[in-house]
Amino acid sequence: MTSIDPQMRGADPRVAGGRLTVDLDALVANYRQMAERSTPAEAAAVVKADAYGLGAGPVVAALVAEGCRKFFVALPEEGLAVRAAAPDAEIYVFNGLFSPEAASFYREGRLIPVLNSQTDLAIWEAHGWDDGDTPRPCALHVETGMNRLGLTPERTRILAQENALTGALTPQLILSHLACADTPAHPMNRQQLESFQALCALFPDAESSLANSAGIFLGGEFLCDVTRPGVSLYGSNPVNDTENPMQPVATVQARIAQLRQVPAGGTVSYGATPVTRDTLLAVTATGYADGYHRSGSGAGVPLRNAVPQGACGFVDGERVPVIGRITMDLTLFDVTDLGPDALQVGDLIELIGHNMPVDDVAMACGTISYELLTSLGRRYERHYVHGGDRI
Ligand SMILES: *Cc1c(COP(=O)(O)O)cnc(C)c1O
Repeated sequence: MTSIDPQMRGADPRVAGGRLTVDLDALVANYRQMAERSTPAEAAAVVKADAYGLGAGPVVAALVAEGCRKFFVALPEEGLAVRAAAPDAEIYVFNGLFSPEAASFYREGRLIPVLNSQTDLAIWEAHGWDDGDTPRPCALHVETGMNRLGLTPERTRILAQENALTGALTPQLILSHLACADTPAHPMNRQQLESFQALCALFPDAESSLANSAGIFLGGEFLCDVTRPGVSLYGSNPVNDTENPMQPVATVQARIAQLRQVPAGGTVSYGATPVTRDTLLAVTATGYADGYHRSGSGAGVPLRNAVPQGACGFVDGERVPVIGRITMDLTLFDVTDLGPDALQVGDLIELIGHNMPVDDVAMACGTISYELLTSLGRRYERHYVHGGDRI
């Protein structure tokens, strides 16, 4: 069974303002589903940004136990954290090398850089590590439409010709990234696939990888040899306007620090949002410093006038709306409709979880689940569920 590094435990439960529970069983079920959808390709796992905020150590260990053999991170230090949990896996680093000094991190962790530019290629040729059969192992990112990272098609062709002559760098994986995969009908998807296939043909011995979570739902040729699911593993719906096929993984709960009565005509929080009826407030000890975005305050925040509906919590079978502005460490919920005796100080209100889907909360905050998950922060008591048990 996965063991949890004490550092991953988060805040002391006796005093934490909120609780983050990560269901590793749901994570593994989501990986299994994405691996099936990826067949005949191999499903890797994207665990950048500390596994989308949920803890790379436990997440990677659970995925290794499920048979995942390839991981992707954004930065070398994230790669070292993955190496600690996956001694035998292939670990790819998307953002490549910015400097020759970076090469030592790659050597230490036996990390494989994704080379994105001419500079990356030169640094790796001079400073890459050798592992016997594969000198200077690397992947190559080719540009097909994102214009974010990756070698241009022209440079890729020149590289392929040079390599055919010198064998200086032999990429084992060619990858590119889809700009519009969450919109299946978008013409960009097919255009990118076609340019990608043409570039992969220049490296017949390398594996190919194009699909992120949403790309896997495009299926067929988009699957290539290796898929790169990220957000779907963590429970978010990868495709717009469909029912979410993934299981929720993260549950976030806020602890009630105080219950207070505000009479009609009173005001709450910064900016003095008016209260129009006699209101029972639950003051919870989490706020935007815990990733519960201030923009979830709804029309109480000038930024969000266009979207009057703010975020809601969930407690005792009911949605309870955020009232007034979300502050750094505290958020107020209107719990009047639950009745005067339903809640006590110390009780928990669900912010994200089975009842409050991460995608809905993100939408109420004017953002996407990726941003919500990766900003949850360090102040929660953390729990991991594995094999039906809390570990
Ligand atoms: C983050 C990332 C992924 C994973 O994307 P999801 O939408 O989270 O599945 C895949 N490939 C690249 C290059 C990425 O940056």
